Amino acid sequence: MAKLLDVQDLVVKFALRTGTLTALYNINFSLAPGERMGLVGESGAGKSVAGFSIINLISKPGFIAGGKVLFEGKDISKYSFEKMRTIRGNKISMIFQDPMMTLNPVLSIGTQMTETLLAHKNISKQEAEEIAIECLKKVYIPSPERRLKQYPHEFSGGMRQRIVIAISLLTNPSLIIADEPTTALDVTIQAEIMDILLELCVKEKMGLILITHDLGVVSQTTQKIAVMYAGRIVEKGKTMDVIKSPKHPYTQGLIKALPQSHEKGKKLYQIPGIMPNLNQIPSGCPFHPRCSFKKKICSELDPKLQPFETGEVACHLYHNV
Ligand code: SF4
Ligand code: MG
Repeated sequence: MAKLLDVQDLVVKFALRTGTLTALYNINFSLAPGERMGLVGESGAGKSVAGFSIINLISKPGFIAGGKVLFEGKDISKYSFEKMRTIRGNKISMIFQDPMMTLNPVLSIGTQMTETLLAHKNISKQEAEEIAIECLKKVYIPSPERRLKQYPHEFSGGMRQRIVIAISLLTNPSLIIADEPTTALDVTIQAEIMDILLELCVKEKMGLILITHDLGVVSQTTQKIAVMYAGRIVEKGKTMDVIKSPKHPYTQGLIKALPQSHEKGKKLYQIPGIMPNLNQIPSGCPFHPRCSFKKKICSELDPKLQPFETGEVACHLYHNV
């Protein structure tokens, strides 16, 4: 099957006064139509940069320094800002952690939804309103006709995120990139929002890139997973394979830190140390200062992501150098 998205050797750098820093090192991943993938890692791993670079939205001084982003077969990484607008918010929708990043507080929900539609489609205002109501129904907003007249502050946080999802559906996208979509919400609401998002992706056959630090959410939502550390993908595979049998010591640590794998009465596990800053990436394997399996070679040579069993892993424990 033709790929929906094919990210090839993507390199992102930041040009700072003090020098150029690399934020993404030759990232590779792909998505078939309707496929769902989790991009996982602690904050600072490069997940959001990867998500933003797909839609060419990395904020300056960041820039794409190499590689390709093929979307439906076309390299969109070279598109101009104007040309990218035909894709972004249209064929590819983005959902952010804070719904207020998407919603305009001074416009009614109806105005925001119909304006989005009228910007991308040649339809009448009434048709736009009908589509908006349909999309609000899909995310289970009660009495959508009446709700269209209301403003963002008249909704709860969970309802606002549902509206953002409804907005992302307006243009029938083939890909949704969701960056920590439930992190700002109450735990009880988080599951509700993820259920809606998953149901819609399945029903409407939309691809999903779910960016999150929460491996638990990824295990319930996605078919495959890429674990990121210090701007690299360090492990890739089918979600169930990675969760059941993680190979990279970092992935093993993330799983050990999940509340479910935690024994009552014991302190929740934490991977020792912290994610390095972009300007202080350690030599060799960037995880070596935090790794309890490190060998001599680990501080000398950066392991490449290579096939191992059913997935891929970047760690000297699995490959002869
Ligand atoms: Fe640990 Fe070495 Fe593997 Fe890095 S390469 S994760 S330091 S064992
Ligand atoms: Mg982030």
